[in-house]
Formats: sequence, C-alpha cells, structure tokens
Amino acid sequence: MELLRRALLWASTNPTMAHSLPRRTFVRRAVRRFMPGEKLGDALREAGTLDGRGISTIVTMLGENLETAEQTHAIVDEYVGAMEVAEQRGLDLEISIKPTHLGLDQDPALVLENAARLAARAEGHGTLWIDMEGSAYVEPTLDLYRQLKRRHANVGLCLQSYLRRTPADLEELLDLAPRIRLVKGAYAEPAEIAFPDKSDVDAKFRELADTLLQHFASGGDGFVGFGTHDPALIDWLAARTDELGTARERIEFEMLYGIGVRDQDRLVAAGRPLRVLISYGSAWFPWYMRRLAERPANIWFVVRSVVR
Ligand SMILES: Cc1cc2nc3c(=O)[nH]c(=O)nc-3n(C[C@H](O)[C@H](O)[C@H](O)COP(=O)(O)OP(=O)(O)OC[C@H]3O[C@@H](n4cnc5c(N)ncnc54)[C@H](O)[C@@H]3O)c2cc1C
Repeated sequence: MELLRRALLWASTNPTMAHSLPRRTFVRRAVRRFMPGEKLGDALREAGTLDGRGISTIVTMLGENLETAEQTHAIVDEYVGAMEVAEQRGLDLEISIKPTHLGLDQDPALVLENAARLAARAEGHGTLWIDMEGSAYVEPTLDLYRQLKRRHANVGLCLQSYLRRTPADLEELLDLAPRIRLVKGAYAEPAEIAFPDKSDVDAKFRELADTLLQHFASGGDGFVGFGTHDPALIDWLAARTDELGTARERIEFEMLYGIGVRDQDRLVAAGRPLRVLISYGSAWFPWYMRRLAERPANIWFVVRSVVR
C-alpha cells in the first residue's frame, strides 16, 4: 500500500502523465467523484446544493506553478467574480488559494499583491484561505501569511500535522490571532521533514488542535478549521471542543467535496459548523493523484469507470 501511495504521489509530479492521462475518458469520468466540473459555474452550482443541506463552502481553482503575472491576475479576477456571485445568491462561500497558483515562484511581491486584493474583497464576508503546498514552500508561505495578516484580519492559513516543524510554526503564529486550517498533509515528503508513520501524524493533529483550543480557552483570539475526514479524529475533536467549551464561532469542520459524505450529514445533524471545499478547473491531474494517494482504494473508482 505504501508503495502504491508513493507511486501515486510520484505520478502527481510527472509532466508526461499530467499531459496524457487527463485526455482519457475513463479518468475524466472517475475524477467527477471529487469535483463537480471544470468550470467555476459547476462549483457555484454545487455550492448552492450544499447550502441547501446546511453546509458552507470553500471554492478553489486547481492549478499550480503558473508562468506569468497576467495569468495570475486572471485567476484573481475569476475569484472576485465568484465572490460577487456568492453574495448575489446569499451563499456562505470562501476562497482558497495556492500561493504557486498566484505567483509565488515568480515573485513574492506578486503573490502578496494578488492575495491582498482577494483578502480585501473578502473582508466582511469571510476568510481568504491559503493552502499549504510541498515543504519547499512552507517558509515563503508563512512569510506571505504574516505579511497579509498584519493588513487583513480575515486571512487563514493551512498547517500540516505531518511536518515536524509545524508545532513551532504554530506557536510563532499564535500572537497574530491566526485563522488556521489544520490538515494532515498531502505531499510526498522525506522522513527528515515529515513523520512517516500515520499514527504520529494523527497524534500531532490532536496536539496541534489542542494547542489552538487551549489558546482560545485562555482568551486568545483566532479560529480553527479541522480539515479531516477521519471519523475517530472528528469525534475526538467534537468531544474536546465541548469539554473546553469552545465558542462556536471559533471552529468549523472542513472536508473535501465528495469525501466523507455520511460524516458531513452527521456533523450537520449534530449542529456542528461544516464547510466543504469544492475544487474546479482543468489542471486537476496532480491534485487528483494526491486524492488517490490518500486512499489507494479510490483506484477502484478509476477501474470501475474503465469497465463502464
Ligand atoms: C478542507 C481541506 C483542505 C485541505 N487543504 C490542504 C492543503 O492546503 N495542503 C495539504 O497538504 N493538504 C490539504 N488537505 C488534504 C489533507 O492534508 C489530507 O491529505 C486529507 O484530508 C486526507 O486526510 P484525512 O485527515 O481525511 O485522514 P486520513 O487518515 O487520510 O483518512 C481518514 C478517512 O477519511 C477518508 N478519506 C480520506 N481521504 C480520502 C480520499 N481521498 N478519498 C476517499 N476517502 C478518503 C477515508 O475513509 C479514510 O479512512 C486538505 C483537506 C481538507 C479536508
């Protein structure tokens, strides 16, 4: 299983596969389980459906490592358009960005300018979330977050519990009243950088969650989104927030579109705040490989779509 996981994560960074596989109909069919479509309109339509089930949303356009400033400006324009439509339709919808999609590789000033424009537009409506990519990007992404957070209270950052450095990073952010999305981490990382054992990654998630919840309990400011589909962890988090009397506006559960649907309904029925992240766009190959790697049994969906 570990070999298969590694192979899928390797495939996620392979340009030849990224070029050829998405053209195959069976792959396109299988990917529909995790994204409603390639267009912003598909994501917004599904956000409306989820809203009807009492679920808020985050929308993100897939894509990484873009080439020009103009390309990044077009993405910002599209996100601004998404916020406008969401407001017209009365949807509680937030945006999540990948720094390399908005210019991190080209120029830190470019991604800062792009993200600041989105954060300013989102002010009064919700959080602008910043995804965390592979470990080479952690340092510049933290820099970006700190700079943005000084100017915009409504920016949130994803932190990954598999990274050995994350507890120290979180401690340093606490004074900023951080808005944190906690996840386990989805990239292939060496053991010096990330815990190789899942049990350690799970234990660290709890520790990091507890750091934030204790911070709130002692009067600290901020917010945490628990980005996980792990039922045992979700139950632990729900119990821990109840135990510490965490205010409802300080936390939410976050899941990916199409994953853990039964648990999504369970959380809504229990009155827990839930937000589902919907991805869209044509550059879905690396992202899809990471979703398969998280649960190699998902390959059966691909196999089944070949048979169909
Ligand atoms: C809202 C959100 C935002 C995220 N943003 C980032 C980010 O910015 N950077 C980053 O590195 N990672 C991100 N991730 C991905 C994250 O790091 C994990 O890879 C992913 O959530 C799987 O871990 P898990 O906590 O769900 O638990 P796991 O322990 O991996 O899985 C627990 C259970 O969840 C279900 N499950 C998990 N993944 C899948 C799947 N792909 N298909 C079907 N079932 C599945 C299975 O039932 C599995 O047994 C994000 C996740 C979420 C929910």
